[in-house]
Amino acid sequence: MAEALKDRSMVLQKEMIANHFARLEQAPETGEPVVYTFVPGNLVELIRSFDALPVLPEINALQSGMRKLSGDYIMEAERAGHSEDVCTYVKCDIGMMRNGNMGPSGKKLPKPDLLLLSYTGCYTFMKWFELLREEYDCPMVMFHVPYQGDGSLEPDHRKYMLRQLHEQVIPALEKATGRAYDEDKVKQSLGLSAQAEDDLVAVLQSGKRRPSPIDGYFGTVYYVGPIFSAFRGTAEGVQYYRALREEIEQRIADGLGPVTPDGPLNDQRYRLVVEGPPNWTSFRDFWKMFSDEGAVVVASTYTKVGGTYDFGFRHNPADPLGTLADYCSGCYTNLNLPTRIDMLARYVKEYEADGFLINSVKSCNSFSAGQLMILREVEKRTGIPGAFIESDLVDPRYFSAANIKNRLESYFQMIDARRRGRSA
Ligand code: SF4
Repeated sequence: MAEALKDRSMVLQKEMIANHFARLEQAPETGEPVVYTFVPGNLVELIRSFDALPVLPEINALQSGMRKLSGDYIMEAERAGHSEDVCTYVKCDIGMMRNGNMGPSGKKLPKPDLLLLSYTGCYTFMKWFELLREEYDCPMVMFHVPYQGDGSLEPDHRKYMLRQLHEQVIPALEKATGRAYDEDKVKQSLGLSAQAEDDLVAVLQSGKRRPSPIDGYFGTVYYVGPIFSAFRGTAEGVQYYRALREEIEQRIADGLGPVTPDGPLNDQRYRLVVEGPPNWTSFRDFWKMFSDEGAVVVASTYTKVGGTYDFGFRHNPADPLGTLADYCSGCYTNLNLPTRIDMLARYVKEYEADGFLINSVKSCNSFSAGQLMILREVEKRTGIPGAFIESDLVDPRYFSAANIKNRLESYFQMIDARRRGRSA
């Protein structure tokens, strides 16, 4: 029963993605407008209200990483002059474009009619779209989201965002698509977003159980895929999250853990919280290093990069543009370091974790800056020593399996030693 339900959510996701990429491939013929935008702070309900198809370049990059295509794309971008230090998502995207813009699904991606840059804390977003604007010679509009430097925003910040939506973003979408803004359509879509968000949060919070029925990092990156990309605010998105929630509830009823590359992980020896994005080029090997040891991730920050719904935020159809502004300002990349520390310390406590781990990725300054300080502060707050490993997003040159495995094994031994010390 559990397996059949699990299959249903996976099949649904596969179909949704295949249909979306098929529509993208046909867009030059069908005339459907195409808007490129980033995962954190995406305004997908607004984009879709103009009957435009969203493209998320980070999703293409990570999928290229999983399909072992990113190494060549990155080399191609470096040959074109992009430095070794540049975020590898950017280089992967540029390399893919220079190779005919064949998306990871094997279907050609159309050119953007508009680049919609939601600026939520990462400077690279701006540079990335400047490069794409040059390559595609297309219009770009920037939605500047003020950084939560003091841990919250002032009412004037919100007004500033609303003004931009009214005066810049909506007019740019109207011009690129040839369609007028329809607020009722946005409201309807936001209602669907909130439904899917409720179901997603139920899934995320199931990590508090023992055994945890989910892996809150490796498994959950699949779960957040639809809501972080093109499917928030859609009927398919609602259907997917309902099916997923049912599948997880069945796993809870059966007392089962998540399905890992080694099969079901029911005997869970270590419960971990993880900070930082995963490595995509060796994703399964990386996951296996945890599941081999009986380690399950109960919560992670990366799976909140497209929205921190588990702390209560839901899109609100009664205030369509205001809720989009609130959503963008609360994205993980837009949060200051003390807020990130609070979040991690809270996860360690509420999910009763035995440890926490930082995967510091070389490419991503937005995540990596301050991570050593985060580690020390979370250790102080929780009284639990953390672990620190290094890898990269989609550059296979920066994944050293032996090093990471050694570090993880030592960390698990340390958790065992602390347990023995406590019971002695
Ligand atoms: S630096 Fe990090 S947050 Fe910024 S685009 Fe690259 S991966 Fe995304």
